[in-house]
Amino acid sequence: MANYRPFDVVIVGAGPAGLALGTLLRPEQRVLVLERRASLARTPPIGESLPGAAAVLLQRLNLMAAFQDAGHRERGAAVSVWDDDKPVWRDAIQDPAGPGWYLDRREFEQMLRLRAQDVGVTLGEGCKQVDIRHRQGQWYLDTTLGSFRAPVMIDATGRSGYLGRQLGLRRDADDPLLCLYSFLDQAAESQDATMRIQADARGWWYTVPLPQGQRVLAYHMDVDDPLCRQLLRHPDAFLARAREHALLAEVLERVAPPVYAVDRRVLPCWK
Ligand SMILES: Cc1cc2nc3c(=O)[nH]c(=O)nc-3n(C[C@H](O)[C@H](O)[C@H](O)COP(=O)(O)OP(=O)(O)OC[C@H]3O[C@@H](n4cnc5c(N)ncnc54)[C@H](O)[C@@H]3O)c2cc1C
Repeated sequence: MANYRPFDVVIVGAGPAGLALGTLLRPEQRVLVLERRASLARTPPIGESLPGAAAVLLQRLNLMAAFQDAGHRERGAAVSVWDDDKPVWRDAIQDPAGPGWYLDRREFEQMLRLRAQDVGVTLGEGCKQVDIRHRQGQWYLDTTLGSFRAPVMIDATGRSGYLGRQLGLRRDADDPLLCLYSFLDQAAESQDATMRIQADARGWWYTVPLPQGQRVLAYHMDVDDPLCRQLLRHPDAFLARAREHALLAEVLERVAPPVYAVDRRVLPCWK
């Protein structure tokens, strides 16, 4: 066991959760964060809306100034058409924590990554395999980047729940949703900063403007809805269907046809 490099905490997964936690645990703890990806993803991960309440966390991470300089976009009002045809507006001024932001998500993750490294978190990227064992109060990890041990190990692998699965935990997916989403290029930077939510007979849409002239358009529906396959085969139909709703059409006039990504969105429950 002598060749297992010792840490106080090993975190698996360098998403926002793993990086923020690793930063907060330093300098008291020796922290290793292991990440499967070798570098930041070229396409941004989905998840761009950050509520104003997150400012408290950014301050604790000593990141507020860097965050404000990074060009994230301030959120506007939220407008939704849900169980009534009449749009319901919720102005950001009603939120005591402030309006929040639409993130440049790659920039955001890069900021968290640099901060973690600045405070002395050891970041192991490109870690393809992690095998774990627990013995006498220590976790032993054999990985493609070497062997490590720590009394505390944290699963921050997001929905993949990699460590949970290795420990034999079973995830129950209750009423799984599927999210079909695309980052759309807009002909001109939209002045409209609203978050638009529109329900229809099959599911619900969501669109917000992103920094640097992009927009995200997402459609959530039941995993087993055959419409999903149909829309996947015909990206133009995805946009056309969204434009059937006046609330969405207003902001989807001059966008380029979509290139897809699909994501399963489930409410996880570990057993
Ligand atoms: C469709 C959709 C829309 C969303 N929209 C929003 C939004 O608007 N706002 C919001 O706040 N959140 C949103 N989310 C939630 C989003 O998941 C979070 O923003 C955030 O990404 C969660 O952070 P995390 O660090 O927990 O997990 P993740 O960001 O998923 O990070 C997990 C990390 O673990 C790594 N990893 C996975 N397996 C392994 C392994 N075996 N070994 C090593 N590393 C591994 C992954 O590569 C990744 O870097 C959305 C999610 C979905 C699916």
